[in-house]
Amino acid sequence: MNLNFKKGDGLIPVIIQNNTTSKVLMLGYMNAEAYQKTAEEGIVTFYSRSKNRLWTKGETSGNQLTVVSMTEDCDSDCLLISVTPLGPTCHMGTESCFADRSAKGYIYQLEKTITQRIDQCEKDSYTYSLFERGINKVAQKVGEEAVEVVIEAKDNNDELFLNEVADLTYHLIVLLKAKGFTLGDIETVLRARSK
Ligand code: AMP
Ligand code: ZN
Ligand code: ZN
Ligand code: ZN
Repeated sequence: MNLNFKKGDGLIPVIIQNNTTSKVLMLGYMNAEAYQKTAEEGIVTFYSRSKNRLWTKGETSGNQLTVVSMTEDCDSDCLLISVTPLGPTCHMGTESCFADRSAKGYIYQLEKTITQRIDQCEKDSYTYSLFERGINKVAQKVGEEAVEVVIEAKDNNDELFLNEVADLTYHLIVLLKAKGFTLGDIETVLRARSK
């Protein structure tokens, strides 16, 4: 990457994004040294304009930002970093510095949780116990939930309908995982259909 730090005061804005949910977590600034340290360590270090020094996010809270990927913009004067946050990113204790109620992406967070329950064989979890019963059982659950969605679609209790769609969505993600696929694979198929 050949970032241009020469515009203005030698700092470039850096957008921090959750790699799982794509949610924007915070905005900070980097000078060339902060960028180099971040690239070397794989943990985000900013240049703090209030502290006037390099600032590794999480240096006191422990809530570091682990780099997954870094992307420069079209004219190389700002940076987008996808991260796995080790805790709440905002110093006020919230996941993001931005109160974005319309933010999408929770479904990918759920997929990640489901994947962890299964990969780590968490025997106390419903997800793992369902997974352990095999693909046919998981598929059967998807069928049952789909029927429940059909039933609830026919009358007009919105709460019941939404709950059944939520049940179906959850079980579908478990089935995908049991078959070795991800929501990303579905996106690929859907994207290929649209021109
Ligand atoms: P931390 O880097 O998480 O250990 O936090 C150290 C200090 O940096 C906090 O007390 C805040 O002053 C500041 N800080 C931490 N996170 C943020 C943030 N997301 N935005 C602005 N300032 C922050
Ligand atoms: Zn630019
Ligand atoms: Zn904040
Ligand atoms: Zn149900």
